[in-house]
Amino acid sequence: MHLATLASGSSGNSILIGQDKRSFLVDCGIPVKQTLANLAMINVAAQDLEGIIITHEHVDHIRGVGALARRLKIPVYATAGLWEEIEPKVGILKPEQKVVITKEVNLAGMQVRLIPTSHDSRESYALKVLGKNYTVGIATDSGIITEEMHKNLQGCDAYIVEANHDQEKLWQGRYPWYLKKRIDSIWGHLNNTQLAEALTDWLGENAQKVVLAHLSEENNTPELALTTVLRILKASSVRKRCPRLKIRVAPRHVPHELIQLGE
Ligand SMILES: [Zn+2]
Ligand SMILES: [Zn+2]
Repeated sequence: MHLATLASGSSGNSILIGQDKRSFLVDCGIPVKQTLANLAMINVAAQDLEGIIITHEHVDHIRGVGALARRLKIPVYATAGLWEEIEPKVGILKPEQKVVITKEVNLAGMQVRLIPTSHDSRESYALKVLGKNYTVGIATDSGIITEEMHKNLQGCDAYIVEANHDQEKLWQGRYPWYLKKRIDSIWGHLNNTQLAEALTDWLGENAQKVVLAHLSEENNTPELALTTVLRILKASSVRKRCPRLKIRVAPRHVPHELIQLGE
């Protein structure tokens, strides 16, 4: 299996995931031009994309969806509730490009399971992607680790997960109070510590890669996210338990290098 973030953060999110020569995108919150350029940077042919699955309707996740789907003539997969929200925003698509999904869908030869998160949107989902030999967990945009996330995200081989903010930096920062409250609420975003604590529970000895994603530009830094997560993992047994584990941070505007599981 292969995976990469194409862009990550409130300016736009998109994740590529695939197996063999087949791939799909999780969200497309960046313009088409940037999506195509970023795919080229990691040597993935746009023609290999078989669809886009939507986690939720926020603009940093859907900005480029309609235009990319029209350009590549690929389907968009979303729940009925999310379609109600995104339909006016994605523009005109052929009926066969609008695919309504429920809890599970087969995409590019992989089984994708939708896991509800806790976020201030109509609906919002983390994903568990099951390939032939590996499993990938994707979880951003959640104020807490929900019971479903806790249950479903154990033991994946790789993760792309949200380390949105440092809680202290958020409250000391210059955001208005209502926004601080929103981000820190159960309907907001995961902070570095929340995520690290979840990882101590999720990571098993098969864990190869964790990519920290959706970092706030204002209330976090790549160094702070990484050191906080490493410190908490070190204090637990994870470091010993997962000898192969590598932790990286997703860049904001450019792709993370293509990760090949098993290599
Ligand atoms: Zn987001
Ligand atoms: Zn969101």
